[in-house]
Amino acid sequence: MANQVTIVGAGPVGLHLASKLFDSGISSLIIEEHSEVGVPVNCSGLISESGCHTLGLALDGVLVNEISGADIYSPSGSKLTIERKRPVAYVVNRELFDKNLYKKAVSKNVEIDFNSKVINFTGKNVFYQKDNYGTMSKSKLIIGADGVQSKVRELMNLNAPHNMFVHAYQQMISGDFDPKKVNVYLCKEAVGFFAWLIPHSKKEADLGIGVTLGNNPKNAFDSFYASQSFEFEKLSENSSIIPIGPPFKHTVAENQLLVGDAAFQTKATTGGGIIFGLRAAEIAAQAISDNILKSKPLGNYEKLLSGLNKELALHWKIRSYLNSLGPENTEKLFQKAKRAGVAEFLTSYGDMDNPSKFVGKIFRKPSMLTLFPEALKFILG
Ligand SMILES: Cc1cc2nc3c(=O)[nH]c(=O)nc-3n(C[C@H](O)[C@H](O)[C@H](O)COP(=O)(O)OP(=O)(O)OC[C@H]3O[C@@H](n4cnc5c(N)ncnc54)[C@H](O)[C@@H]3O)c2cc1C
Repeated sequence: MANQVTIVGAGPVGLHLASKLFDSGISSLIIEEHSEVGVPVNCSGLISESGCHTLGLALDGVLVNEISGADIYSPSGSKLTIERKRPVAYVVNRELFDKNLYKKAVSKNVEIDFNSKVINFTGKNVFYQKDNYGTMSKSKLIIGADGVQSKVRELMNLNAPHNMFVHAYQQMISGDFDPKKVNVYLCKEAVGFFAWLIPHSKKEADLGIGVTLGNNPKNAFDSFYASQSFEFEKLSENSSIIPIGPPFKHTVAENQLLVGDAAFQTKATTGGGIIFGLRAAEIAAQAISDNILKSKPLGNYEKLLSGLNKELALHWKIRSYLNSLGPENTEKLFQKAKRAGVAEFLTSYGDMDNPSKFVGKIFRKPSMLTLFPEALKFILG
């Protein structure tokens, strides 16, 4: 057996996992359907400063902007501003970000088969089409890091319902932007999600919208765009799916394991999946090396994920609560939040990755507790 592990997908999660496995002395082969890492890009590249710090990510050559706040707009256009003195998030060039992880993996002798699409696996054998020819690899473990529409997940019979996906459409636009703030629009067109503007610089930004799968994101984008009287120049566009749901309970079966978007390790509040996917990759590396080197059950991965899953579950509860409101009640909640000083509260305590940190703080602020009893009951109940 040439490699101990076959990883399907050379996205950030698969690449990071392969590097971490190498550090534990485990060899892996990555199978990637595209001819190159990092393209096509379907991502805004917004990642938390704290997540980068925890993971020790070097952003040399990939950092394009620093974000220190957000303007959040209600359905009627009322604004709430969160502003920090220091950057809380970074915008990275997603293609170069992935390519950096690729360089790191290659420097560790990780083998990657490009133009290779996995079609099936049985036991230790993974069958795939490389340059249109059928071939196979053999390894002890098979890892699905193959993104939102994971073939590995499908072959593991772990299917997700339709309402656990958001269909996103976004444009790279040119205009005049406040480079320090992202805009979040809780607009009626974004059924089940929201619209966003993420500045890459003063002159360029991603403007996008997400809708529950089954709705047309391009139509939603056009209506939203018209409603805002925007006049930007479109530079490019892309559309893709984001997994939005509670963390998957089962991510391991026999010798197979899921990680990253394939395992729904994305924040259901925002759709951000890079930091959580990379954190999960490190946890997966630990479970895999324990399995291969110490014969521990691969299923320990699910136990090791509990801290991460606690935050992901909270993201999902917040998303479910917001989706239960509809535009009218969203507006009411927004106005109440504005009067209650939620902007100041989030400026002090907000954490874009770990909601448990600020939810915990709410309990120490009686004014917040009494203002949002229904929300807290829904989210924590
Ligand atoms: C519009 C949009 C904006 C986003 N913005 C952000 C953001 O600002 N911040 C953030 O944190 N997240 C964002 N995300 C989410 C982020 O892009 C994902 O969470 C992240 O890419 C997940 O990484 P991954 O490695 O798990 O999967 P992917 O990046 O999807 O990588 C999976 C890889 O597997 C390969 N693959 C798939 N199937 C097969 C197969 N059968 N055989 C071989 N290879 C296969 C694919 O080609 C791909 O290279 C956004 C997503 C969208 C759609």
